[in-house]
Amino acid sequence: MAIATTNPVTGEVLKTFEALTEQQIDEAIGRSEAGFRALRKTSYAQRAAWMRAAADLLEAEQDDVGALMTQEMGKTFAAAKAEVVKCANACRFYADNAERFLADEPVEASEVGAARAYARFQPLGPVLAVMPWNFPLWQAMRFAAPALMAGNTGLLKHASNVPQTALYLGELFGRAGFPAGAFQTLLVGSDAVEKILSDSRVRAATLTGSEGAGRSIAAIAGRELKKTVLELGGSDPYVVLPTADLDRAAQVATTSRCQNNGQSCIAAKRFIVHTDVYDQFVDTFVAHMSALTVGDPMADGTDVGPLATEQGREDVEAQVADAVAKGATVRCGGTAPEGDGWWYPPTVVTDLTPDMRMYAEEVFGPVAGVYRAASIDEAIELANATSYGLGANAWTDDPDEQQRLVTELDAGAVFINGMVTSYPQLPFGGVKNSGYGRELSAAGIREFCNQKTVWIGDSGGADIDSATE
Ligand code: NAP
Repeated sequence: MAIATTNPVTGEVLKTFEALTEQQIDEAIGRSEAGFRALRKTSYAQRAAWMRAAADLLEAEQDDVGALMTQEMGKTFAAAKAEVVKCANACRFYADNAERFLADEPVEASEVGAARAYARFQPLGPVLAVMPWNFPLWQAMRFAAPALMAGNTGLLKHASNVPQTALYLGELFGRAGFPAGAFQTLLVGSDAVEKILSDSRVRAATLTGSEGAGRSIAAIAGRELKKTVLELGGSDPYVVLPTADLDRAAQVATTSRCQNNGQSCIAAKRFIVHTDVYDQFVDTFVAHMSALTVGDPMADGTDVGPLATEQGREDVEAQVADAVAKGATVRCGGTAPEGDGWWYPPTVVTDLTPDMRMYAEEVFGPVAGVYRAASIDEAIELANATSYGLGANAWTDDPDEQQRLVTELDAGAVFINGMVTSYPQLPFGGVKNSGYGRELSAAGIREFCNQKTVWIGDSGGADIDSATE
């Protein structure tokens, strides 16, 4: 894919960029390694001051960077600005909490024959971050804020269609005071990733993106014996049971499916509704979906902008056409308009069967598939009948049903009577083909740390236990 800003509203290519040469990449990795040697010696207090300065810059510049994101990938300006503020909050969260999250963890020294024993968390070094375009700032920040606070350095290979947001990020942390090389953007295509990850100076990698990209990075990292965190796709279920507040469930379903123009990994994508409330829920859901305003993402009051890429729209169109050809019913939307830009309307599809692509694949656009379940058992079975396992939403006021759903849904997160979303305070990640490892919270900052075992004895002390390895 060309490295370029292309406005999804018009399809017009606004700016193109040359990929870095091999020599430029080599020099950047060198700066990253040198930056690591400098950064690892700084105190948490110093890094926290720089991280808070980055948060201040983000807040002050939210209009400009928000407009840039809207121009590059089509999210509404309001959502883009909210994303910038969320990033600033994450910077402050890790500034406030990194030292506590990475404090030495003592163990009972006498049980291991030591005078003192503990685990110490130390940074690994330069980490490659391969990131997607859908939340161009937030996805990268979820990696950058904890990684830098831990003392790692970052090399960002961003999606090729958000180069200007990538360049903004590449300068942000240096402007905030972090040492040269602490965080850099590499404008490169995905074909450059193998060489970068194979470089011995790069110690680990994180990828947020599609399942295919995840498999590719995991294969390279496996060969190179490097730690990875993979945040991949999802086809999250949204289970609605009879005791739920149906109006609220339908309203939140609409937000969950259509947020970010339908292009979120944790958007609810499969709506599984108990047969007793199926008709009422579907009617209300269709009414909410049909009432959304689709249009200029910069305009006040727009709910849904265009899809980010031409290919993305083609994929969604093909998935819906396949379902219709095999007997599914389109309850609203379902046809892309003629003309410029990559628009696709909010769409609800019912009567889906396992032979249809929508049944098994992630749909990355504002298209909801609705399924009928005869019981909670069938709802859970349907919810788990996917190769993905990122998030799961469920609506019920019955405490026993809530506990069954929490226990039995195969997902990295379960949200009851709400929609799956990310908070710096909560771990985020998937199971099954949605990936492995966690971002955010204490779990996220520890992913790229050496958990070093420290055992300190008394030199005149007891015999050494050499019986086991
Ligand atoms: P993508 O095509 O996989 O691209 C993501 C990143 O990976 C881009 O930087 C891309 O570079 C790079 N890439 C693609 N193929 C690669 C390969 N074979 N080797 C190395 N790098 C490769 O995904 P996307 O279309 O941008 O994003 C949508 C997907 O991301 C969806 O499946 C969505 O669910 C998932 N996602 C997951 C999460 C999560 O937290 N779990 C969050 C957001 C999105 P180029 O742009 O240069 O091709």
